[in-house]
Amino acid sequence: MRPQDAELPVVIVGAGAAGLMAAIFAASGPRPVLLLEGTERPGQKILISGGGRCNVLPSRCLPSDFVSDGSPHLVAKILRAWPLDAVRRFFEEDLGVPLRLEAETGKLFPVADRARSVLDALLTAVSRRGVHLRLGARMTGLVQGDAWQVQLAGGETIAAGRVILATGGLSVPATGSDGAGLNVARALGHAMVDTYPALVPLTGSNPAHHALAGISLPVSLTAALPGDKRVFESRGGLLFTHRGYSGPAVLNMSHVAVRSTFVGGPRPPICVAWTTLDESAWDGKLRAARGLLLPVLRDYLPERLAVQLLEEAGLLRADASQLQRDERRRLVDLLTHYPLPWSGHEGYRVAEVTGGGVSLAEVNPASLQSRRAPGLYLCGEMLDAFGPIGGYNFLWGWVSGRIAGLAGNQE
Ligand SMILES: Cc1cc2nc3c(=O)[nH]c(=O)nc-3n(C[C@H](O)[C@H](O)[C@H](O)COP(=O)(O)OP(=O)(O)OC[C@H]3O[C@@H](n4cnc5c(N)ncnc54)[C@H](O)[C@@H]3O)c2cc1C
Repeated sequence: MRPQDAELPVVIVGAGAAGLMAAIFAASGPRPVLLLEGTERPGQKILISGGGRCNVLPSRCLPSDFVSDGSPHLVAKILRAWPLDAVRRFFEEDLGVPLRLEAETGKLFPVADRARSVLDALLTAVSRRGVHLRLGARMTGLVQGDAWQVQLAGGETIAAGRVILATGGLSVPATGSDGAGLNVARALGHAMVDTYPALVPLTGSNPAHHALAGISLPVSLTAALPGDKRVFESRGGLLFTHRGYSGPAVLNMSHVAVRSTFVGGPRPPICVAWTTLDESAWDGKLRAARGLLLPVLRDYLPERLAVQLLEEAGLLRADASQLQRDERRRLVDLLTHYPLPWSGHEGYRVAEVTGGGVSLAEVNPASLQSRRAPGLYLCGEMLDAFGPIGGYNFLWGWVSGRIAGLAGNQE
């Protein structure tokens, strides 16, 4: 390192979850740290997260919970760098944000139940550690020379010794993440996995289902991508909306649906099991039933959905004791393997995360330094990995931000 280089700052681009955490840890290194945020309001996604309560972390996490086209070993290695318990302790003890477990979901929220308390604690830590946070500083380009040149909207250029990109993905662009950082990474030669909206509600065009808007129930979903031997499963709430389907089970499965739209051909069915009863249990119940079927289904399903399923089976007014074998089989199928008639998705406007991004093979997992451009580090949602609903995506942001921050400001 030449003497003047040592004085150049580490410039972190993007003050979201990953960039704020990167700044906190970079601050312990020898170079000054400059955190650039394109909008006037840092951490906007933290503020809107978890319905304004911010689901900071999950209470348990397996690397296999994450979706990436990269090697599962890389995801695991990155996550292992800061184990979940240690991240939790950091929030509680270092940042002073006590967390509490929401037992039914396994999610950790701030005791204050306010996302603002999380963002304020991060911003306080950033400022106490001497990081200079500059708002309204939007990166438009990044040039590698003797030093890095970070180009800003308005024409200014900042020289940097190291650069950490933490500009997020493309989801909810109103929060400031519009993909500019991904374009910069691509222009520097990084291989990318095509981006797509993930954790996104699905749309459907069945008017009878729109009429069920507001009904939510626990379900189990299964689907497979064309040409992919894996079967994806997702359990949790399904919510009928005025335009289609949402709820954790649907959001967690949405990447399978969204990615299937990239390739031509038929859309893969997402099969719904509406209850925990399997085929033989339903078969037994229907065989034992007498009179109308609605009371039998109503014991397990919201009434309006039970009516809908019976109508679809053509059995709303059928007498259970008179059911033909094929009628019973048809109803059992609708109850246990219902093909959800989805037709599209709601897009980046509402997607909680962006799938795809900079390929994990393009970074050293121990430092998140780019393999293409030494001195450049990448973290957070711009990397090709995301987790399910439940605090996993902030976990990814905190852990990857810390790795990049620590490594990006070493001698
Ligand atoms: C509605 C909603 C609710 C969510 N709830 C949860 C939850 O409860 N728990 C959970 O774990 N995850 C949740 N997520 C996902 C989580 O918010 C993201 O995974 C996480 O914010 C990603 O962090 P990041 O720092 O990588 O990117 P971001 O949070 O998107 O931050 C990127 C930052 O970079 C800035 N930036 C972008 N481009 C530039 C540029 N060119 N120059 C300068 N600055 C730039 C942006 O303005 C932004 O501040 C939610 C997401 C949404 C949309």
